[in-house]
Amino acid sequence: MNPNDFQEFQSLMQSLFQAEKEEPVVQPIPAEELFDRLDLNLQEEGIPDEIFYQRLRELVMSTPRTASNKFFNQLFGGRKSKAVLGDMLAVLLNNSMYTYKVAGPMVGVEKIIIRNIIELAGFGNEADGTIATGGSMSNFMAMVMARDYHGQETPTQGVQGKVSLYTSEYSHYSIRKNAALMGVGADSVRKVPADEFGKMIPAKLEEMIIQDKKEGFHPVFVNATAGTTVLGAFDPIDEIAAVCKRQEVWLHVDGAYCGAALYSKKYKHLLKGLESADSFSVNAHKMLGTPLTCSIIICQDKKALHHSFSTDADYLYQTASDEFNLGKTSFQCGRRNDALKFWTLWKAIGTKGLEEMVDKQFHLADIARDYIRNHPDYTLYSFDESISICFNYKGIDPEKLCTSLYEKAALMVGFGRSNGEVFVRTVSINSNNNEEDILNFFKTIESFVAENENLFFEATINS
Ligand SMILES: *Cc1c(COP(=O)(O)O)cnc(C)c1O
Repeated sequence: MNPNDFQEFQSLMQSLFQAEKEEPVVQPIPAEELFDRLDLNLQEEGIPDEIFYQRLRELVMSTPRTASNKFFNQLFGGRKSKAVLGDMLAVLLNNSMYTYKVAGPMVGVEKIIIRNIIELAGFGNEADGTIATGGSMSNFMAMVMARDYHGQETPTQGVQGKVSLYTSEYSHYSIRKNAALMGVGADSVRKVPADEFGKMIPAKLEEMIIQDKKEGFHPVFVNATAGTTVLGAFDPIDEIAAVCKRQEVWLHVDGAYCGAALYSKKYKHLLKGLESADSFSVNAHKMLGTPLTCSIIICQDKKALHHSFSTDADYLYQTASDEFNLGKTSFQCGRRNDALKFWTLWKAIGTKGLEEMVDKQFHLADIARDYIRNHPDYTLYSFDESISICFNYKGIDPEKLCTSLYEKAALMVGFGRSNGEVFVRTVSINSNNNEEDILNFFKTIESFVAENENLFFEATINS
């Protein structure tokens, strides 16, 4: 690598780390001014390094800072050094994961991660898995496997008859989207009602499946969510698994958000019954602090993976057994090494270290909920054993509050909707944060509102 580029990288890195401390939320550039404010143009002629480095610096320094202690906006955040190290090496090495010939020991890195997750999940000896581009793709792969498992001829002949799929009303939108992509139509996804805690009601699920069967549908797929995207609720997997067994339907557990509870002795009970599922996915780039993206999907029967995703290609698969040619069980052809960054983290801190990260996130969520419960200006909307903390402050419109906090570079946090309510949704997913960062989060909101009262409250005229 060009030594000047490397030097510039180090210098940029130092500037960024400093900026993250001094100015944890970058002043956003309004989207409509973006192309005027930054020189993003691509032109016929190249530019001298000096100017190039300057442009690069402007770009890097104006980009949202997701690793800071004021970023609570999405279901990821923070930076784990060992994971970043792994990812940087993956870029340098630039392998493609499809064959053993090209990826070599990196195949083993991916396989060992999958094997360990299979073990943690309690899946059987015939289980296998792969790493997908994200939780949406993991769900897609599970849905395709379920579809093809039900209709073994589907990969060659296409979908026959009317199929139906089931997921809770609070599940991730990728389920509907994927149904459209896989040719069964988004309307074939049934929304199963949830209880007051946002958990799917298994009895309702069974009623809907039975009714659909009567009407000539083939129920092929049930999705249970471990950590719903807004409330962070866990569907009761064991009871849903019993329904799926009785009704002979594939059960997938979407653990993109909180499937990592599996690593915690204290919180593993939230995934009770997981060993009876047919497939399970978890995003290491959410609770497990790995850079985007790293999504692992496992299934009980490796034949299902091959049945849906393996196609022969003589030009590609020239050495080693299929077991080491990962392209036989993945969606993509060329595939980035998303395994190494998770492996470097796991190897360095151990399963215990991952457990501590998970426990810390639940602990920080408890701190946040305690704070909200003890302060009458707040209303709490979420429940215990969830790392999504949903609330409103002084009855302020949450959309207005979150947008103002962002525009004035005070805090990155988003709002969510559930059950007809709108609220601020913060997440305690950054395990680098400590209790003080959580308390500062609330202090920031309180002083921001106090300083900007005119934005949030109608002026009242004293008579
Ligand atoms: C984030 C999330 C997904 C989607 O994962 P991506 O990696 O963003 O595609 C799916 N399901 C749930 C429950 C999620 O929280």
